[in-house]
Amino acid sequence: NSFGELNLSRPLVRACEALGYKQPTPIQAACVPLALTGRDICGSAVTGSGKTAAFGLPLLERLLFRPRRSPAIRVMILTPTRELAVQIHSMLEKLAQFTDIRCCLVVGGLSSKVQEVALRSRPDIVVATPGRMIDHLHNAHSVGLEDLAILVLDEADRLLELGFTKEVHELVRMCPPRRQTMLFSATMTDEVDELVKLSLNSPVRLSA
Ligand code: AMP
Repeated sequence: NSFGELNLSRPLVRACEALGYKQPTPIQAACVPLALTGRDICGSAVTGSGKTAAFGLPLLERLLFRPRRSPAIRVMILTPTRELAVQIHSMLEKLAQFTDIRCCLVVGGLSSKVQEVALRSRPDIVVATPGRMIDHLHNAHSVGLEDLAILVLDEADRLLELGFTKEVHELVRMCPPRRQTMLFSATMTDEVDELVKLSLNSPVRLSA
């Protein structure tokens, strides 16, 4: 079992090699082939399982083969904390290092102005915390979700525990209905299940 067998393009396999990954983790082996088919995914996975690459690799692969139609963002990744957003952003930059795909960070605590400039420079992917993302969508005309192809809800249980339920629901409703959605959560609570019903379409359930 190797990254070469996951049907990923050369630039992504090279990135995995550069990162020193020898073989996919269980969640990656399960998630990558399914996500490449465009199915919605509901994964129980904790940090440390390799879940960032489990959703990062297939979303990068799908962007590589989907011509861009407008400057609007194509992938939005919502996470509960700034620290997690920084980690995901840095991981995606490493996985995308041999491609032209660009990734931008939108979190509280950093300058809104600087983020607006970054959003205007046509990133493909935005990694965001919900509050700051909504601020940008409401106040600044720097970003739109009309061409969004993939939505990722990471650490869904913590997104809800930390009080972002209203913001996450609002953001999900702003996304085009025809999209791929991947949701990951360490625990599957009733609240998470509600979010699954709101945001996913016949999801495949995976656990690792
Ligand atoms: P994550 O669960 O996404 O936070 O990843 C946890 C750590 O595992 C990160 O430092 C990754 O770089 C590393 N990692 C992810 N996938 C693999 C892999 N296939 N082989 C070795 N390390 C990996």
